[in-house]
Amino acid sequence: MLSTMNDAPLSIAQLLRHGSTVHGTADVVTWTESGARRRSYAEVGKRCAALAHALRDLGIDGDQRVATFMWNNAEHLEAYLAVPSMGAVLHTLNIRLFPDQLIHVANHAEDRVIIVDASLIPLLSPQLPHLTTVEHLIVTGSSTDDIDAPDGVHVHSYEKLLEGKPEVFEWPEVNERSAAAMCYTSGTTGDPKGVAYSHRSIYLHSMQVCSSDGPNLTQGDRALTVVPQFHAMSWGLPYAAFMIGASLIMPDRFLQPAPLAELIAAERPTFAAAVPTIWQGLHLYLEQHPQDISSMREVLIGGSAVPPSLMHTFEHDHGVPVLHAWGMTETSPLGSVARPPAGTTGDEMWKYRYTQGRFPASVQARLVDDNDDLVPHDGTSIGELEVRGPWITTSYYGIDAPEKFHDGWLRTGDVGTITPDGYLTLSDRTKDIIKSGGEWISSVDLENAVMGHPAVAEAAVIGIPDDKWDERPLVAVVLRHDTDTTLAELQQYLSDKVAKWQLPENWTLIEEVPKTSVGKFDKKQLRAQFQDGNLDITRI
Ligand code: AMP
Repeated sequence: MLSTMNDAPLSIAQLLRHGSTVHGTADVVTWTESGARRRSYAEVGKRCAALAHALRDLGIDGDQRVATFMWNNAEHLEAYLAVPSMGAVLHTLNIRLFPDQLIHVANHAEDRVIIVDASLIPLLSPQLPHLTTVEHLIVTGSSTDDIDAPDGVHVHSYEKLLEGKPEVFEWPEVNERSAAAMCYTSGTTGDPKGVAYSHRSIYLHSMQVCSSDGPNLTQGDRALTVVPQFHAMSWGLPYAAFMIGASLIMPDRFLQPAPLAELIAAERPTFAAAVPTIWQGLHLYLEQHPQDISSMREVLIGGSAVPPSLMHTFEHDHGVPVLHAWGMTETSPLGSVARPPAGTTGDEMWKYRYTQGRFPASVQARLVDDNDDLVPHDGTSIGELEVRGPWITTSYYGIDAPEKFHDGWLRTGDVGTITPDGYLTLSDRTKDIIKSGGEWISSVDLENAVMGHPAVAEAAVIGIPDDKWDERPLVAVVLRHDTDTTLAELQQYLSDKVAKWQLPENWTLIEEVPKTSVGKFDKKQLRAQFQDGNLDITRI
């Protein structure tokens, strides 16, 4: 028997209509050199209609790709909403990709239009002659006069294109399963791979971002989105904000600790999201320049394991609780969220909050071993995490990658345990695992332990070859400037925190842990530095 329910498609246009009317007084704040500029969601709605008219006039009348090469700002939000709503596909280009990778992804996605922030023109321009499908460049901000575009690429000013266009648009009814937006993975191994999100997947994912046991974005929140709009769709926050009526605070290009602190003081966000390195940087800055940041009732941190020391620092020094979450570009990205079970307190509660968290009902998770046999969820047996669900990808756009999928499940490349009550704890990426004398050593556990030392600003652990044990951990440490702590003291500090056989004997002091295009520790680059003999290693 079929249900009697209406089958109305879930769509971005519905989020746009709802947010710009019901929540028309919420606003998007964009940070600039001279403070904030603001735009209400009602205004954003009108400008989205104007943008859609402008894009139609440029020939976007189907599922052509409209790319963005932008910071987080109001215009990027308009592209997020208008492009999918008109039936086209938004492609958020990662502004920090290597030039070859940028050229590869723009050509692979067949981007027809690129909307670019004026401040990013110098980064994009050298690549333009190699972008074979781009016909239009739409520039936000300043004048377009001095832009030297290749033949066949028309340059437009964003504001001039919108001028005089109607403020309403007849948003077409789209198939909810069609692509709305695409992101490419950050490509630390091989070429970046494209993930195409559907209207339906984005809609359902937005509901999860607003769910009380998930990130719990609520009406009236002021959400500071530091995580770039090109990194896994800013973790879904822009769409969720339009769904629920939360205002958005966009930092544009001002991502360093000092302007972020200034932005927080001026705009008093209640919620924020970014990778751990951003928060670590902000904390070190605030130690020198104390300021109240407790307007944030919670910050969502993920993308890399959050060191427990960072969680405690934020809660105790700044009065800001950290919510730890796990996800991937391939998972929209929200997977698990570390809300402790109801009723837990003290150390027990913290133990749950350190984990990568629990999956919502819509996302199924399992662990498999090297033979693809299922590993029990007993909290100790280790396996590779596989996931599936309505906002988890089942393939990559335009390429075969059978090694990344397994009977409809996504192989995440992450390794860890799951408890009987569903809490995931990750110990490593499969490619980062350290196998010493046949036993696994978790690089994440070692990093968390070292970063617990007050003299340590950052620490990353990789496996290096060892004659006796095959592999042993190497700890690369960035010390705070104001300390004379030695590496031997750090090793001593670890001695009661990790098993004796895991205690690392190889240490190196570095200036900075290399970072990927989305601000995570780049262990591939660290391994290359080791192989090239560029790390000065102390054996203790
Ligand atoms: P990306 O698609 O660039 O966001 O990268 C996804 C990968 O980031 C995952 O497969 C994990 O390896 C890592 N990751 C994301 N969140 C966490 C977390 N909370 N703890 C540990 N690793 C994480």
